[in-house]
Amino acid sequence: MIEYELARLESARKIAEDTCSLERAAQYLDDLGIVSFGIESVSVCDKTMSYIDFGDTYDNTVCREGNEFWVGSWGSWVEEVENQYCEKEGAIMCGYCGEFTPLEEGTDWRNCVCEHCGHLVGG
Ligand SMILES: [Zn+2]
Repeated sequence: MIEYELARLESARKIAEDTCSLERAAQYLDDLGIVSFGIESVSVCDKTMSYIDFGDTYDNTVCREGNEFWVGSWGSWVEEVENQYCEKEGAIMCGYCGEFTPLEEGTDWRNCVCEHCGHLVGG
C-alpha cells in the first residue's frame, strides 16, 4: 500500500474511533476510491476482531478489537494472539491441523505430537 493511502487509512481509523463504527470508515474510504469487500471478522483463541477487508491477509487496513481501533493487518493480529496464547498456555500450534496442543517444557517442538490429529506438529 502506498504512502498517501496509509494516511487515508489513519484518517479512516479516526473516523471509526469517533463513530465507533468500521462501516463509517469503510464508507469514507469507499468515497475516496479505496474500495473494500466490506467488514469481516476473525476469531482466534477466544478473541475476536473486525477489519475492513481489502482481500489479503497482510494488507494494511483499519482493525477493531472491542473499542480499540488501529491501522494494521488482521494477519499480524492473528499471529500476535496465537503467540501470546502459546506463551501463556505453554502450547504450540500444530502445523498439520492448526489446533493448539500442549508443549511439555524441555521438549523439542519437532518431537511434539499433536493431541488432536496425532501428527508431529512440524507437519
Ligand atoms: Zn494436529
